[in-house]
Amino acid sequence: MSEISDLIIVGGGPAGLTAGLYASRGGLKNVVMFEKSVFGGQITKSSEIENYPGAVEVVTGLELMEKWPEQAARFGVKQEFAGVKRISKAKDNIFDITLEDDTLLRAKSVIVSTGSNPKKSGVEGEDEFYGRGVSFCATCDGFFYRNKEVAVLGGGDAALEEALFLTNICSKVYLVHRRDEFRASPATVARVKKNSKIELVLNSTVKKIYGDASGVNGLIVADKNGNERDLKVPGIFVFVGMKVNNEVLLQEDGKFLCEMSKSGEVVVDLDMKTSVSGLFAAGDIRINAAKQVVCAAGDGATAAINAISYLESLHE
Ligand code: FAD
Ligand code: NAP
Repeated sequence: MSEISDLIIVGGGPAGLTAGLYASRGGLKNVVMFEKSVFGGQITKSSEIENYPGAVEVVTGLELMEKWPEQAARFGVKQEFAGVKRISKAKDNIFDITLEDDTLLRAKSVIVSTGSNPKKSGVEGEDEFYGRGVSFCATCDGFFYRNKEVAVLGGGDAALEEALFLTNICSKVYLVHRRDEFRASPATVARVKKNSKIELVLNSTVKKIYGDASGVNGLIVADKNGNERDLKVPGIFVFVGMKVNNEVLLQEDGKFLCEMSKSGEVVVDLDMKTSVSGLFAAGDIRINAAKQVVCAAGDGATAAINAISYLESLHE
């Protein structure tokens, strides 16, 4: 078995990368971070960011995150491409980290920063046409619908911002939302309402997404009076919220390693400490997360600073 790490960080989004930077720059010599998909996290799928302090120009998520892994690596954090299956704590007070290929690693402290992933809407046809007209990422797939009409489902910041982005590529965007009020910030709502390429389809739900072997041909929406409308679009972008990635904390007995909220978020205090000593949580995965890059980064720094204190306390 390999040596015991001081700290293992699970998840390389804004929270994990900042934790890695602060932990290694704060003097920890043996810090390893695991990322199973893209260093930079979910924001790399966003088309425009205008609220990260100091980044005055509007940038894409990829552009915003480009230098973060490099900056963390400069101070020595090891960044590994691998998925973590489970985090457990053994009787000797050391954490066992099981990778998806069943490799077992050990660490004195752990920061879990596995973030969140898009939720599905549950609409008929969503699974069948996923990747063939149904998408959860406008930056990734918008270009396939150049000069075509598309639909966006949802009424939060993600749906409205991505609808705006799609107007730069597509000829028209139907924004389908189940209410007539939006969850998105007022500034974004104002921009959407002013955009002549966006048609608001409010108080409406999607009954089904239909198509054929070549992909989506359209969707049937119904308003609250039951009036149906056929939107003949080849693409629908679904932005109906996020689900936290808490599976790594699930133990073999089906219980979570630490205290969780009813909605599956990790309960932490202001130091990002969980109910298990030496285990910290940061970013979207924790309770009451503001779900912002700047907040996730702040959590990562807080968690790392307190992980250093925890490790020092082991030697007292
Ligand atoms: P994430 O960014 O989700 O990163 C978690 C990482 O952990 C991921 O890279 C994931 O692959 C990895 N991971 C998960 N499970 C495992 C595992 N088992 N093993 C290894 N790695 C794992 N915020 C803003 O501030 N401004 C915006 O304009 C903005 N726009 C957004 C637009 C969209 C479309 C979306 C979806 C989100 C947006 N957000 C925005 C929110 C922001 O992206 C998140 O709040 C932030 O990324 C959370 O960071 P995090 O590090 O907690 O989690
Ligand atoms: P969100 O804020 O939870 O909004 C989800 C939207 O989808 C809501 O309008 C909801 O309707 C609708 N919805 C949920 N389930 C549905 C279903 N099954 N069918 C149809 N509609 C459904 O999610 P989000 O927009 O992904 O944002 C997630 C978090 O990231 C938020 O905290 C957000 O502020 C943050 N974020 C921030 C930015 C930014 O700062 N610029 C950008 C993107 C995301 P109801 O309103 O009726 O519930």
